Amino acid sequence: MRKRIHILAMGGTIAGSAGDSAATTGYQAGAMGIEELLAAVPQVRELAEITGEQLAAIDSKDITAAQQLQLAARVRELLLSGEVDGIVITHGTDTLEESAYLLDLLHFADIPVVITGAMRPATALSADGPLNILDAVRVAAADEARDRGVLVVLNNTIHSAQLVTKMSATAVETFQSPNGGAIGAVNDGEVCFYQSAQLHHLPNALSVSEKLTSQKELPYVPILYGHSDDDGRLVKLVRENGAQGIVYAGMGNGSIPERAEKELAAAVQAGIPVIRSSTSVSGMVVKAEESYEQAGFIASGLLNPRKARLLLQAAVVCGKGTADLRNFLR
Ligand code: ASP
Repeated sequence: MRKRIHILAMGGTIAGSAGDSAATTGYQAGAMGIEELLAAVPQVRELAEITGEQLAAIDSKDITAAQQLQLAARVRELLLSGEVDGIVITHGTDTLEESAYLLDLLHFADIPVVITGAMRPATALSADGPLNILDAVRVAAADEARDRGVLVVLNNTIHSAQLVTKMSATAVETFQSPNGGAIGAVNDGEVCFYQSAQLHHLPNALSVSEKLTSQKELPYVPILYGHSDDDGRLVKLVRENGAQGIVYAGMGNGSIPERAEKELAAAVQAGIPVIRSSTSVSGMVVKAEESYEQAGFIASGLLNPRKARLLLQAAVVCGKGTADLRNFLR
C-alpha cells in the first residue's frame, strides 16, 4: 500500500523568492505556496500519496507561540485521525529546531513527523529545498522511521529533534547534532538509520499535548545570555515584567556570575523556576557549584537554551516543578 504523507507548509527560505537567482540573501521568505514547492519535486508523488496544506507563510524568525501551538494542534489532529502514515513540515531554518523540539515533546504516536527547510531560496541556483523535500518525504514514508519521534532532515542527513541545532549562519550543511551526531542519512534515495533516535517525549504526551494545544499562548519564559560582569539587573527586569520561568544561558557548564546568581536564587525563592543552560554549543550542562543546587537551579543536560525554554514553558502550563524537570532531564 502506498503511504499517505501529509505536508504542512509554514513558509521560510525553502519557500523564499529572490529577484536574482544568484542571490542567497535579501529574498522574501515564505513567498511561495505549497503547490509551487511541490511542483519543483514531482518525484514525491511517485513515492507516496501526497496531500498538503499551507498553515503559515512566514519567516520563521517571526513565529509566535500561538503559531507554534497551532502547528502542534494540527499535527496532533493528524496523528489521531488515522488518515496519515507520515507528516512532513516545511519550515524556516531559524526556529526549525524549536518547532521540532516542541513537537517531539508532545509526540505520542509511532508515526514519523519530519521537518525540513532550506538555506537557499527556491529561486536560487542550486536551491537545496527540492531535494530536502524529497528526502523528507522518503524518510516520512520509511518503515524504519517509525517510532523515532520527530526528525529533522536536511542536506541528506537525519537528526533527532532533541539534539539538532543550526550551527552555521549561512552554510547549507548547517544542521548538525554536536552531541551524538546525525542518526541517519538519505543516500541516493535510500533511507538509512545508523543510530537510535534520542526521543524526548513528555510523560503522558497525549494528554499534555491536548492541554498545551488548547492554550492561546505560552508563559513568558525569557532566556538571559551570560557574559562577564553580568550584574543580574536583567533578572530583576524580567521578574518585574512577569517572567514565569527563566533560562540562564551560562558559560561553559552553565556557570553564572555571582551577582546574577544571587538574583536568580531570589527568583527561585519567589517560585520562578530557573534552568541553567549554556552558550557553548556542545557538551552537557550538569551539576556544578554546590550553591546552584542549594538555590534549586535545574541543569539543562543536553538541551540548548532555546529548547530548555520550550520545556520550561510546557512544565509551567502543566504545573510541573523542579523535581519533575530534574527527573525528565536526567
Ligand atoms: N529567516 C528564514 C526563516 O527562518 C531562514 C531560513 O528559512 O533559512 O524563515
